[in-house]
Amino acid sequence: MQSQVTSWQEALQDASLGDVLTWAVAKWGDDLVLASSFGAEDMVLMHQAWVMRLPLAVFSLDTDLLFPETYALIERVRDRYHYDVALYRPQLPLAQQTQQFGGELWSREPDACCRLRKVEPLRRALAGRQAWMTGLRREQSPTRRELAVVQWDRTFHRVKINPLAHWSHQAVWDYLNAHDVPYNPLHDQGYPSIGCWPCTTSVKPGEDVRSGRWTGFDKQECGLHR
Ligand code: SF4
Repeated sequence: MQSQVTSWQEALQDASLGDVLTWAVAKWGDDLVLASSFGAEDMVLMHQAWVMRLPLAVFSLDTDLLFPETYALIERVRDRYHYDVALYRPQLPLAQQTQQFGGELWSREPDACCRLRKVEPLRRALAGRQAWMTGLRREQSPTRRELAVVQWDRTFHRVKINPLAHWSHQAVWDYLNAHDVPYNPLHDQGYPSIGCWPCTTSVKPGEDVRSGRWTGFDKQECGLHR
């Protein structure tokens, strides 16, 4: 599989969004799923797949700690695009996490909190799928600079497809505006990257787009992407 990934990488590295989506759905069918956090990039992917009438399974990780605006957007997407968005929640309810690990684990051990509330549900969400799709872009952080449109995910042992790997921030927003795509209103309030509310702050214009995540910790990813 990994040698095939290299040839797919080469074939698709400069492909258009429509071509990547068409290839992914044709190649993987029901074995493919889109992991959406309902950020701007995910809205591009969901809108384009809908326009092209490509069947795409979508899931999101509901940590119980998402912003109300994110939950509202999930409902809006369900209504407008008719995606049957599967929500995966942690096996450990928040109250039990507090009992076992103390309150506000995210403020002391965010890696442990992400393992419980994101990584464990992600493993369940990916079970039975051979490939997953994300809205990751190279520009988003130093950890994503080598991102390929198609890659082998060594953590979850699956093919990972990132159709927007080479897109710029501007290209994403040009697309959303040109096609009147709904998006999280927090983006207009200084939140370029939106995760759980305890670990997301607004950033000033010109600051790194991921600098509002886990402020005060040397942490750039939640463990889903390496
Ligand atoms: S982003 Fe923060 S609150 Fe959400 S799972 Fe990770 S540490 Fe916990």
